[in-house]
Amino acid sequence: MRNWFVDFLNLFYPNLCAACGEKLLTQEKVICTKCLVDLPRTNFHYEHDNPVSQLFWGRVNIQNATALFRFQKGSRFQGLLHLLKYKGRQDVGEELGRQLGFELKKSELFNAVNVVIPVPLHPKREKKRGYNQAECIAKGIAESMGIEMQARNMSRNVETQTQTKKSRIERWKNVDSIFEIKHPEKLNNKHILLVDDVVTTGATLEACAQELLKTQGTTVNIAALATA
Ligand SMILES: [Zn+2]
Repeated sequence: MRNWFVDFLNLFYPNLCAACGEKLLTQEKVICTKCLVDLPRTNFHYEHDNPVSQLFWGRVNIQNATALFRFQKGSRFQGLLHLLKYKGRQDVGEELGRQLGFELKKSELFNAVNVVIPVPLHPKREKKRGYNQAECIAKGIAESMGIEMQARNMSRNVETQTQTKKSRIERWKNVDSIFEIKHPEKLNNKHILLVDDVVTTGATLEACAQELLKTQGTTVNIAALATA
């Protein structure tokens, strides 16, 4: 009865796939099954040594790191990321986060994580956007893995937009003091999953991880939606 009603409503207000624009089936959410299958998956979460985890070698002690998709310019994934970052589509981040969480749950390398933490935005930027896109993804992951999210425990004190103009060393110093943890005791002995939308150089994730590793007995893992 309920499904019939939803289908009936969809005749007038169709739910469309955020990636291809086709009508979603009743059981589909935000992105259709065909698009989810077609997105270029890395399967990095099954390998301890992969191009994303290698980014952090010799820099910071990360247990495991992965990204769900390969980022390609002009791809359907880039379109989804654009919706998430610039068009207010938090539901796109949550759905892709749920997909990432389903995958991590199946991986022996990741299934022991017990708290999800999104990379924080500077308050000014978050206010401008209205939300933190990494938090949308983290929320989806926490939901599908059945674990808690701590979205407000870590804060970002420095805006790093103008980083590209600075030298490498200055940039490093800059990154080192960006993040702060408000309640370290809430993270003691936790297996943390640190989450961002896209991993490129890994500098921001590295700075976050350094800060998180100052808390007692924690391990840090990293998951992003995509790697550039
Ligand atoms: Zn689609």
